[in-house]
Amino acid sequence: MSISPLMPVYPRCGVRPVAGDHCHLIDEDGTRYLDFASGIAVNLLGHSHEGLIGAIQKQAETLMHVSNLYGSPQGEALAQRLVDKTFADTVFFTNSGAEAVEAAIKTARAYHQHEDGDANRTELITFTNAFHGRTMATISASNQEKMHKGFMPLLAGFQYAEFDNLESAKALVTDKTAGFLVEPIQGEGGIRPASDEFIRGLKALCDEHDLMLVFDEVQCGVARTGKLYAYEHYGVEPDIMATAKGIGGGFPLGACMATEKAARGMGFGTHGSTYGGNPLAMAAGTAVMDAVANDKFLAEVTEKGERLRSRLEQFIGNYPELFDFVRGKGLMLGLRMKVESRPFFVHLRDNHQLLTVAAGDQTLRVLPPLVADDAEFDEFFDKLSAGAASFDPAAN
Ligand SMILES: *Cc1c(COP(=O)(O)O)cnc(C)c1O
Repeated sequence: MSISPLMPVYPRCGVRPVAGDHCHLIDEDGTRYLDFASGIAVNLLGHSHEGLIGAIQKQAETLMHVSNLYGSPQGEALAQRLVDKTFADTVFFTNSGAEAVEAAIKTARAYHQHEDGDANRTELITFTNAFHGRTMATISASNQEKMHKGFMPLLAGFQYAEFDNLESAKALVTDKTAGFLVEPIQGEGGIRPASDEFIRGLKALCDEHDLMLVFDEVQCGVARTGKLYAYEHYGVEPDIMATAKGIGGGFPLGACMATEKAARGMGFGTHGSTYGGNPLAMAAGTAVMDAVANDKFLAEVTEKGERLRSRLEQFIGNYPELFDFVRGKGLMLGLRMKVESRPFFVHLRDNHQLLTVAAGDQTLRVLPPLVADDAEFDEFFDKLSAGAASFDPAAN
């Protein structure tokens, strides 16, 4: 037998973390890594947050799981928190981002297939270089062929327009269009914030044609950009939104959130999940909301983001042959490189014990835990500078 016991879908590297300490990961052999990847925008409270750990421990001792056939005081409380803090009137909890996007796609379709709707409107317009997850529906929603290969046939009902190009989106709107599915800030695509004009233009098209505006905030949501959700930067509210990653702080949790109107098709029996919203996940989500959903925490993220960005901008000036520019919002930042970002990310990881994430469009993602402190930011720049000084693009 030559296949590994873990199905070999990830090209796993030699870093083998066994413990976490604030913004550091500790390897099997004791090596400490500075974690400015945060499990890809997940561990927003770092790896040893007392509030989060305590909430999970306490809930695990009390009640871990019950069926969604029963009433859920824990789920009602967290849903109410999200409703109070966002555009949404109602929340469906999932265990992952892809499931949250799946629920969002179903909600958008069901809106039009409701008795008051237009059942011909079945197509969602999505955007180039999007990433929405790895299920059949969510790979079908992305135009990235590398995710399609080997998995035909795709799910019907997606049209791809060019990201951040309003005319391209407009040109695809027909009497079959159900809505738009878009990341306000693309994550895997290379930390690319959509322009205000683009997001506002999509909203106007939705208003004009009674379409669903669906935001995928799985990566950019939950305080990452200095707002609880990134749509707040645009002054545009979606009808439906997927959230996950940061919302559990490391515990698997996601949600599909919607307005009352948008959720009109989602009645009894239309959707479900055995684990979705179980008490343990609700305890984690509540602890995360306790920590991040307040003005003080969000202002700190904004302030840290501004400082990190200006230091990064200064830093890249020293290496004009390597770096192009910095983009992103808050603590969701990308270093756009003049060379492929992956070899540099590997070099930082293996030679300087600094964890970041490579992304599309030659971008290095910098996604620190939102609780990173001054000493950790200083350590980041020490490692990044040493890494840039010792990096030879030609050797990679
Ligand atoms: C990570 C991600 C997903 C998928 O989330 P999973 O939890 O891996 O299923 C969907 N959309 C965006 C924008 C993401 O970044």
